[in-house]
Amino acid sequence: MKLLFTNIKELLQVREASVLKLSGKEMNILPTIKNAWLLVEDDKISDYGKMDDLSEISADKTIDLTGKMVLPSWCDSHTHIVYAGNREQEFGQRISGLSYEEIANNGGGILNSATTLQNTSEEDLYDQSAKRLEEVIQQGTGAVEIKSGYGLTKDAELKILRVIKKLQQNYSLPIKATFLGAHALPLEYKNKKEKYIDHVINEILPAVAEENLADYIDIFCEHGYFTVEDTNKLLKAAAKFNLRPKIHVNQFNAIGGVQAGVENNALSVDHLEEMKPEDIQALKNSETMPVALPGCSLFLSIPYTPARMIIDADLPLALATDFNPGSAPSGNMNLVVSLACIKMKMTPEEAINAATINGAYAMDLSEKVGSITRGKLANLIITKAIPSYTYIPYAFGSNPIEAIYIKGKLIK
Ligand SMILES: [Zn+2]
Repeated sequence: MKLLFTNIKELLQVREASVLKLSGKEMNILPTIKNAWLLVEDDKISDYGKMDDLSEISADKTIDLTGKMVLPSWCDSHTHIVYAGNREQEFGQRISGLSYEEIANNGGGILNSATTLQNTSEEDLYDQSAKRLEEVIQQGTGAVEIKSGYGLTKDAELKILRVIKKLQQNYSLPIKATFLGAHALPLEYKNKKEKYIDHVINEILPAVAEENLADYIDIFCEHGYFTVEDTNKLLKAAAKFNLRPKIHVNQFNAIGGVQAGVENNALSVDHLEEMKPEDIQALKNSETMPVALPGCSLFLSIPYTPARMIIDADLPLALATDFNPGSAPSGNMNLVVSLACIKMKMTPEEAINAATINGAYAMDLSEKVGSITRGKLANLIITKAIPSYTYIPYAFGSNPIEAIYIKGKLIK
């Protein structure tokens, strides 16, 4: 099947295959072709160019995109899409003045989600999660990472990871799975954190590896959750099963999680709302991608990740949604790109790069998705007729998307 798009107003993020991530000043450059064509063969991008140079191509179908733009689908490298129920009642409590930490201390928060999930069947959990996955695909996400972490028992964590596996089998976009057993301390382990970490390492982790259910390991490294010492211990144990770290660090406090991530060869360190100069220093000359989650900052009214500090230090930065029931109940990458520009002072070029190629890198997927490159998957966003690509972050809250293609197939 050959699908030819013609008269594309602007084809965005056109890259050579060798570009796997962008850092510092490179992030401010978004290569495009104006008045372009794009050829998709079966599930892949096959060729592209300027309309002026288009020679006879025998396509099975030609689609005229006059006035519209094409860009690679968003790559959302940090989500918790597989959860049960919602926490809108806590949303009400927060509006009345309780903090995220106070709600957690009252038995709400992650533990509340874990209880609900433990009592939800695998089938029901799949149905709830598939609905959310379909929603984010409609919002332009064409590759996604999903974490466990709302189970906190061996059975419930495996249940989540099996649901993720089923989503991988039933949906055609790339999905990466992360084991986040150390997301919070279950009630039955109150004041017995060492015991819980040992349980995760000795009981749950081997079972996860045995069923080959995860690509990555994660931990919430934060005051009141897990220490740098816990983090090092878990990451070293997971390395024996070839699970590379993608970890939650520096959300409320900078306690050395970034350094622990880099030392353990993390693929990404995520959140980073609180950054010290030594965190920046640790990331320099590393292979670790810093990931910002502005939807969480918006929802919790906490500081935004200091993108300028990170990018101006010549580091890369990726953007993701953190889609989860407690701190970011939205998987909308269009909004994340807008927030990055409005609240983090990223340029539209930086934000689009951070949400595509750098997001792909944070899932080990930049050879497959994240740019318009010959041979990559045809996971594409077709915009409505818009005046410029800056309009995408500018018109925050409005939907810039007319059509979605995943592996060359129109998603309805
Ligand atoms: Zn998260």
